[in-house]
Amino acid sequence: HAKASGRNRSEVFTAHLRENALVRLSIEAELRSAIREGELVVHYQPIVDLESRTTVALEALVRWNHPTRGLLLPQHFIDVCEDADLVVPLGAFVLHEACRFIADRPDYTGRVLVNVSTRQIGAADLTRVVRAALESSGVHPSRIGLEITESGMLLATQAAHADLTSLSAMGVDLIIDDFGTGYSALSSVLQNPVAGLKLAREFTLRLGDRSTGDRISTAVATLVNSLDMYGVIEGIETEAQYRQALRHGWRLGQGFLFSHPRPAEQIDTSRLERSPEPLAAG
Ligand code: C2E
Ligand code: MG
Ligand code: MG
Ligand code: MG
Repeated sequence: HAKASGRNRSEVFTAHLRENALVRLSIEAELRSAIREGELVVHYQPIVDLESRTTVALEALVRWNHPTRGLLLPQHFIDVCEDADLVVPLGAFVLHEACRFIADRPDYTGRVLVNVSTRQIGAADLTRVVRAALESSGVHPSRIGLEITESGMLLATQAAHADLTSLSAMGVDLIIDDFGTGYSALSSVLQNPVAGLKLAREFTLRLGDRSTGDRISTAVATLVNSLDMYGVIEGIETEAQYRQALRHGWRLGQGFLFSHPRPAEQIDTSRLERSPEPLAAG
């Protein structure tokens, strides 16, 4: 009986994979034209100073405005992008959009943080792509930050190391994204010039459990403050999580409680605080 159900499961799995491969191929072809045809858009989510709840920076998040399927989140296409070597054009697009956002809004003095795929680092010469986006928009390097996961920080190649070092030397901040989910040695991650980290949302979800969630949040907030980095706690959805985050020593946060990611035209930068907070550039 176990054998029979096992076979059923694997048949279902094989069928699913076959279908999936086809789905991926068609998404890949569509994505190539989406990048060309300008169907990708960038939304922006505020990062707030927790004490005052004022916006001090924005995270750029890509979306695909699909002609028939509507607005697609990255989870539906980022993996395909990575496998199909489309992360380089996608990354360049988001960086150019982020720089254009800054250049178009002289009243906005904060940073825009851009997510960088591990595949963009080193082999894809990220430094050159970032420099091109900054130069064509006239934006100062300190206005851009790059969010990189632990695995991206741990790339061992010479080219990857050169990319991260030269970006930081240019004045572009490197920020560890989804901190705590990467199973990496802290000492190895910190061999890079890291300016800040973002605590992964899965820990925020566990705030208030009076055990792991709270202890991890407190420990990482302490780590951030003692290493003189800036720390952002991600995924704050409730007032209770917000209060806990403050209590644990976090100064910056991000989450639906403050704002969902929004299209550029819905971000009213004239109403954003000019703030001397750690993420405000310059
Ligand atoms: P991430 O960089 O960790 O971004 C945070 C994600 O959490 C975003 O999802 C954001 O909308 C979501 N989020 C923010 N606050 C809350 C909250 O309070 N509750 C919940 N449930 N979610 C919240 P999104 O935009 O779907 O992006 C998912 C991931 O896709 C990102 O995770 C990032 O790894 C990747 N990504 C997004 N944009 C880009 C991009 O331009 N390039 C690359 N390479 N990756 C990107
Ligand atoms: Mg991010
Ligand atoms: Mg994150
Ligand atoms: Mg992520």
